[in-house]
Amino acid sequence: ELEPMPSLSARMHSTLHQYFGYTSFRPLQEAIIRDVLERKDVFVLMPTGGGKSMCYQLPALLMEGVTVVVSPLISLMKDQVDGLEANGIAAACMNSTQSARENRDVKTAFLENRLKVLYVAPERLMMPGTLAFLKKGKVSLFAIDEAHCISEWGHDFRPEYRKLKLLRDPKTGFPDIPIIALTATATERVREDIISQLNLHLPPEKGPYVASFNRKNLYYEVRPKKETFSEITDYLRRHRGEAGIIYCQSRNSVEALTKKLNIAGFRALPYHAGLSDSERNRNQEMFIKDDVDIIVATIAFGMGIDKSNVRFVIHYDLPRNLESYYQETGRGGRDGSPCECILFFSRGDRFKIEYFISQKTNEKEKDISLVQLRQMVAYCEVNKCRRQTLMEYFGEELPEPCGNCDCCLTPKDTFDGTEAAKKLITCVQELNQRFGTNYVIDVLTGSKNKKIRQNRHERLKSHGSGLEFTKEQWKSLASEMINTGLLDVSGTKYPVLKLNAMSRKILKGLEQVELVCPEGFAPEAEESFMP
Ligand code: ADP
Ligand code: ZN
Repeated sequence: ELEPMPSLSARMHSTLHQYFGYTSFRPLQEAIIRDVLERKDVFVLMPTGGGKSMCYQLPALLMEGVTVVVSPLISLMKDQVDGLEANGIAAACMNSTQSARENRDVKTAFLENRLKVLYVAPERLMMPGTLAFLKKGKVSLFAIDEAHCISEWGHDFRPEYRKLKLLRDPKTGFPDIPIIALTATATERVREDIISQLNLHLPPEKGPYVASFNRKNLYYEVRPKKETFSEITDYLRRHRGEAGIIYCQSRNSVEALTKKLNIAGFRALPYHAGLSDSERNRNQEMFIKDDVDIIVATIAFGMGIDKSNVRFVIHYDLPRNLESYYQETGRGGRDGSPCECILFFSRGDRFKIEYFISQKTNEKEKDISLVQLRQMVAYCEVNKCRRQTLMEYFGEELPEPCGNCDCCLTPKDTFDGTEAAKKLITCVQELNQRFGTNYVIDVLTGSKNKKIRQNRHERLKSHGSGLEFTKEQWKSLASEMINTGLLDVSGTKYPVLKLNAMSRKILKGLEQVELVCPEGFAPEAEESFMP
């Protein structure tokens, strides 16, 4: 039985100090640990570096039995176990890299209740026999780390995580053992998925524990992807001696960019899954130990990398979704000092990714990826605070613009776009809401291409009504209108423009619209400039 509150609190603090050397809890840790000790299910959302591990490692010490931690990365498991053992905590792991001998020793230690924490890879946990084996010992708690891996909507879905729902099976599982699920990344959708998959019994009035995801010391900026290489070298010249990561989408571009940087006199090393293990490890070590400033990497780089002084994170290519972007930029500024996160964006990248997605065979996956890509693009094209946009995506509302992103610091020029918006909406309407952006713009700009002639759309009133803008400019206006909800898109395979309530209001003249000046367009000078 638990002791009364005051002495429980005292025990928690003395354990924290004795085993981990800390004197106080981070935000939320104490409340979470209390719930765990009361054998409640708990769901923890905390950004990377927030101190999630403590939320199950400390209870493990205070509970009777062994805490089983499910963790997807075998390489990280070993580090965690070593760390715990260094603190005098009996810990072990079970995974495929161990010898039969090691495996047997771990099993014996578990059965004899000599362990406090046991890390298990999900594939191993769900292998026939493992649950039955665990039942022979005493499990105090299941901790599901990186719980977003359970959701197809997460950025890192792992099919073997799906099977974790068997933990709650009344016969083969452990319906009475509490579960703590932890993740650094979960949108509302992923959250719901985790809760229902793991059948977490969260108190309805409380729900998950959500720490703020706002990383105030990260500065966010999006730049057009044009003279990218010279912009990057300019940047690096101005930030000599600082550590940074440059993310690229493919192994080839990592190699190519690293070479070009080296030739231009910068010390940079590549990191991607195509390198040998030893080369990858060596490059990573050199970066972590400040022997080299710049690492050029694919997304293979980062999971579990704990380097505190990363001062910039540059994205040379468009990430596939905002969660990945948040995770990747999240590797910067972990010491709390400023870090600049700069993303180079072009629509061409979007089409490249769309093409990759179209190659997928699973329809559901395809749809999910396309929605996520659209949100990523919207972030790049937005003309409001990037941090607000990013946090909104994670279901967190920031009441004020942040003052630490490019949109806040250098707002883009805007103009009264009411007429332009009306023209575009009218055209969509005249086309019976059955065509995509490119076609609509072709009509607006008076194209007489074959398809338009076949459809007799050169006879529409809208045909040629938008000659004041080029096609490119219309594209930027249209995507802004879509991103800000003035127009809808439906269908994922052949996205079609549709009117929504807002579009109708604009048509009726009930709404004024302010749009960002597309490149190459300057609104007519006002009277004040008259001589
Ligand atoms: P996460 O898993 O959320 O990324 P970790 O569990 O790795 O974060 O914790 C990040 C760092 O914070 C670790 O170095 C950990 O030792 C430290 N930490 C955790 N809790 C506390 C605390 N209460 N006081 C000080 N440092 C802490
Ligand atoms: Zn901002």
